[in-house]
This record gives sequence, C-alpha cells and structure tokens, in this order.
Amino acid sequence: MKKTLMALEQIGKRYNQPDQANGSILEDINLQIREGELVSVLGPSGSGKSTLLRIMAGLVAPSQGSVLYDGKRIAGTNPGVGMVFQSFALFPWLTVLENVKLGLENRPMREEEKLRKALSVIDMIGLDGFEGAYPKELSGGMRQRVGIGRALVMEPDVLLMDEPFSALDVLTAENLKRDLLELWTERKIPTKSIILVTHSIEEAVYLSDRAIVLSRDPARVISDIPIRLPHWRDKQDPLFTSLVDRLYAILTKREAKTPEAAEEQKKKIEKVPAVPAGALTGFIELIDDLGHQVDLYKLADQLSLDLEDFLPIVETAQTLGFAAIQHGDIALTDIGRRFADASVLDRKEIFRAQVQQHVPMMERIIWILHSKSNNKMERAFFEEIFEKHFGAEEASRQLDILIDWGRYAELFTYNEQTRVLFLES
Ligand code: ADP
Ligand code: MG
Repeated sequence: MKKTLMALEQIGKRYNQPDQANGSILEDINLQIREGELVSVLGPSGSGKSTLLRIMAGLVAPSQGSVLYDGKRIAGTNPGVGMVFQSFALFPWLTVLENVKLGLENRPMREEEKLRKALSVIDMIGLDGFEGAYPKELSGGMRQRVGIGRALVMEPDVLLMDEPFSALDVLTAENLKRDLLELWTERKIPTKSIILVTHSIEEAVYLSDRAIVLSRDPARVISDIPIRLPHWRDKQDPLFTSLVDRLYAILTKREAKTPEAAEEQKKKIEKVPAVPAGALTGFIELIDDLGHQVDLYKLADQLSLDLEDFLPIVETAQTLGFAAIQHGDIALTDIGRRFADASVLDRKEIFRAQVQQHVPMMERIIWILHSKSNNKMERAFFEEIFEKHFGAEEASRQLDILIDWGRYAELFTYNEQTRVLFLES
C-alpha cells in the first residue's frame, strides 16, 4: 500500500449566512489521498467540489472533521499543497516570471534561488520566451500554463486543480492535458499526487487513477472508482468507454427511496434544475429520434455538452417522468414517448400534468393563485417564500424557471413589466 499523503476525516461544511438557507454543503466526507495517485473529483454543479478543494488547501475551514497532511492535522493553510484555479487568477500587472515567482513569495529562499526555480518551471510548462510577457498578451491556454507554473514552483506534494481546463477551448485544453500528463507520468515534476476537480467524465477517465463522485445537497462521496488503464489511454477502447458509461450511470442515478422517504420528500421544497421547457422539449425529441433509448455519454457527446450543462437536462427529464436511466442508458418512459409524438397543444397538456404532479413548488404557486379572488400574485411574494429555503439569489433563479415552465404549460401567465403572475380566466 502506498503512503497516505493526505486524509479527510468526517469533513462537514455548512455556510451560515444571513440571506442564505442554512443548508449543509458537505457531509461526512472521508478520503485518503495516496502517493502516486491522480484523483479526479466529479459531481453536479454546485455540489461543493470547489469547497472541498479549498478545505483541502486550508483556505476554507471545515465546520466538522479534520484534514490531515502527512499524518498531522492542519490548521490554516496546508503547507503540502499548491492550487490551480479555473479562472487562472493571475496578476495582470505582473509578468509571467513574476506571476510564477509569486508562488515562492513566503519561502525562506534567496532571490537568485527563486529566480532559478521560476525559470526552470517556466521552461517545463512550455512558456520559454514569454518570461517578460504580461497576462493580457497571452492566450487562455498560456495563461493557465502560468497558473499551473505558479503552483508547481512551490513543489507541492499535492497539486489541487479546480476545473483547470474548463475555461479553455477544446483543442487548447486537450494540448494542456497531454502536457500535464507527460510531466506527471514521466515524473518530471516532484508532485506526489494530483487532485483534479472536473465536470468532464471523459477527462476524468482519460487522466486519473481514481474517480470520486460526489452527490449534491449535501455532497457525500457516493462512488470511488479505480481506473487502472495504462497511459496513454485510447478513448475508443471499450474499457475506456465502459468506464465513461459507468460514471454517467452513477452521476445520473437517483437514490431509490423508501415510501416514507418519498413522502417526506414531497413535503420538502426541492430545487428544480435550471432547464427551460424549450430545451427539455428538444432533448426529448432527440432521444425519440435516436430510437427512444440511447447511451448517456454518446448523447452528451452528440450534444457537445459537458456535465455542467448535461446533467440538469437529464435530471429534469427524470424528475418530470419523461425519461428513466438504467445502466448508463437514458430511455423515454411511456409518457415521454407520448410527449414526443404529441402535437404542440397536447404536449402542453402532458407537460402541465407532469409539472403539477412532480414539482411541489409549482403546486404551491397554482394553489395560491387559485385562492386569491383576483387570481393574481406578485412575483416578489413567491420569491420571499422560496428565499427561506434557498437564499435570495437561488430563489430568484428558481422562480425564473418555474415561470418559464408555468407559461409553457399555460398554467398561468406572467407580466414582465409589473412582475405579476396571474391565472387567465
Ligand atoms: P461546485 O464547485 O461543486 O460547483 P461550490 O463548492 O462552489 O460547488 O459550492 C457549493 C455550494 O456552496 C453552492 O451552493 C454555493 O452557493 C455555496 N457556497 C460556496 N461558497 C460559499 C460561501 N463563501 N458562502 C456561502 N455559500 C457558499
Ligand atoms: Mg467549482
């Protein structure tokens, strides 16, 4: 067994903010990161991946549990890690060299030593010749190389990367992934372990030795899957695609609920994914065209969507009873097939029935509109109700979606100017 570098023990996190629901973000996260591993972390958007990474780095304190580095509990920043952010986080007024050297700012090291190390890292990450350039003169890919350089110059045991490729175009990202993998697999960097947050399943299977999957609301580790294919991996290889398939299945699976839990759930106000009715309709049509049933990852590929955009659509189709997932395939239910075949008006009717049945918040809205003698209610009223559950920002987003669905289903109308919802007689 390889040495454990870092361990998370029963990590929990909740943010207690005045305008936010007191929801628990992370719960009971136990993880061991061992020497020699490249571990990827997958999970729905907003599940808490970045929070988890920040807790590992000691940038955010957990509400519960502890982070051990080299067997010792950390307090404050973790000395063994370097972090790469999605947004590059470079200082625009500093050159490439100065930005990289910044990683060594707090090290007790002579200036020449810092310079030597920074130059060697710049060389390694392929930025030779750009030492004096400013971030604005660089392409996105090169900026991210600087971000990676700044983390690597610290020679951290553990390199934490938070969606480092997702702000880059596909080709640039591919190129950077290969370069990083080369540094890693050929031991050109002293890094002992890499933890990569990603929302691309394919990226996880291509790069990592282990994929950890988080649930949402709250995030728990729901899967920890070893990936033992040798590098360089062939994305067409059946073993590769079956792993991709399996991860899709895990990420889209809904927990089987006991009848009591299902009852409990009904009473609870649950967030709906931010998917407009039009997008959902197109999605269902596409599955129908593909023969009612299709491999999830092929579908994501066909739509060129990464998880961030793809999962919410899948989730909506499931929530509303239009589709079901089994073994990594998505298949239309009978209702979904009827919906796909129906006329525009019939579709609205089917949608209306499904939304009313499966979305308690919608039911609340309709009920309130019906109870008012003038059948009108201001948007702000609903926002205030939902704010208690989700916080102000999310409540407003939720209402946007519910209004979109309600209008499509002709459950009610909405006036943008007066911000009033009303039933039409
Ligand atoms: P992910 O990286 O998986 O998309 P995050 O870790 O960024 O998710 O966020 C998880 C949840 O925690 C989100 O609901 C987000 O709104 C909330 N959150 C993140 N940072 C803060 C903060 N500083 N204060 C309050 N809530 C936060
Ligand atoms: Mg994030």
